Amino acid sequence: MESKASTALFLSAKKVIPGGVNSPVRACRSVGCDPLFIVKGKGAEIEDADGNIFIDFVSSWGPMIMGHAHPEIVSAVQQAATRGTSFGAPTEAEVELAEMVVAAVPAIEKVRFVNSGTEATMSAVRLARGYTGKNAVVKFDGCYHGHSDSFLVKAGSGVLTLGIPGSPGVPDDIVKNTISIPYNNVEVLERTLREKSSDIACVIIEPVAGNMGCVPPEPGFLEVLRSLTAELGIVLIFDEVITGFRLSYGGAQEYFGVTPDLCCLGKIIGGGLPVGAYGGKQEIMDCVAPDGDVYQAGTLSGNPLAMAAGIAALKILKKPDFYTALNKKAAAYGAGLKEIAARSGVPVQLNQVGSLLTGFFCEHKVFDFTSAMKADTNRYAAHYRQMLSRGVYLAPSQFEVAFISAAHTQEQLDTVLEMTEWSFKKVGEI
Ligand SMILES: *Cc1c(COP(=O)(O)O)cnc(C)c1O
Repeated sequence: MESKASTALFLSAKKVIPGGVNSPVRACRSVGCDPLFIVKGKGAEIEDADGNIFIDFVSSWGPMIMGHAHPEIVSAVQQAATRGTSFGAPTEAEVELAEMVVAAVPAIEKVRFVNSGTEATMSAVRLARGYTGKNAVVKFDGCYHGHSDSFLVKAGSGVLTLGIPGSPGVPDDIVKNTISIPYNNVEVLERTLREKSSDIACVIIEPVAGNMGCVPPEPGFLEVLRSLTAELGIVLIFDEVITGFRLSYGGAQEYFGVTPDLCCLGKIIGGGLPVGAYGGKQEIMDCVAPDGDVYQAGTLSGNPLAMAAGIAALKILKKPDFYTALNKKAAAYGAGLKEIAARSGVPVQLNQVGSLLTGFFCEHKVFDFTSAMKADTNRYAAHYRQMLSRGVYLAPSQFEVAFISAAHTQEQLDTVLEMTEWSFKKVGEI
């Protein structure tokens, strides 16, 4: 695989951008590679600066559920751009997308648009604190909620991949209000919430964890979380930045039938443009400025291009059978992977919910941060490099998910399964 052009671009990038990248996992360090610079994408394929073509399972880390450069999204953005790219005043598209989100997501009665998932979670926590008058935040080990100060405690995604326990620059005074507990552990959850309910403003959770690899909630876990928080006057926040519009049109809350008080969205909701959102019960959302005094603002929030892309994306996702078809295709692919793993003799734990999946290189069940961390990252790195050399673009970390999109054709997925079998065999020799 030729990578001269990417190598040259990376050299230039490193001189002017920290690590050469604008988000740390892109640097691909944990798999021992340099990043490829992407020139374009179409459907499930992307092309790098050297003209190599890959079947893409990163999907921009989630947003591209309908594939790259979907004609309806491209056209919506083009049309919006000709009318002007930003006004800093309300536009009709914001109302239209907000109405679609309110209609789609069970918890959301009112919604505020922001520019990223990080902004959504940061604002939702501020709101929960303002609403309850309490300060502590409970999160779960290995969950990632963006990079704002309160969440950089035992966080997932790049923080986990790079082995950074917290982050310098985050004051202890802030971190002392964050309580991080194990995912899927009902006992610790109940004890923590009951002991500290008078301090705890909110619990924030990824209803399917996607940033320590895919880790589904154990049956009943979300239900217990819901009833405890309701009983104890604690705001329950679902961080659905990955799962929103991914597992179903109403997100994980619809998929599992558990409704939080507040919900954060991002990734898919912008159709590939920078959009985040937080919303929930009207009574809580009415505390946001200018109706209430919890302050949150944004010059480019509700940006016309981003709203146009979001509306176009949701129109595609709303079509009957979109999720049935996607989840069915993904389930068949997951079943194929399991068979291959069994045949190859390499222990792989496949965790999957809908179109999100992670194959952990390990023998044991992966149900939380500790069990995820015991997966064999050397094996993953080798698998990653082997698959890349054959034209398959996986996430450059064991602790991320593979995203199946509507654009992946059966033929592409079958090809990837064949390559996986070849790669697992080689991994077995490590
Ligand atoms: C990606 C992600 C975020 C952060 O979103 P950004 O747009 O990267 O700021 C927050 N929560 C979850 C669950 C995510 O996966």
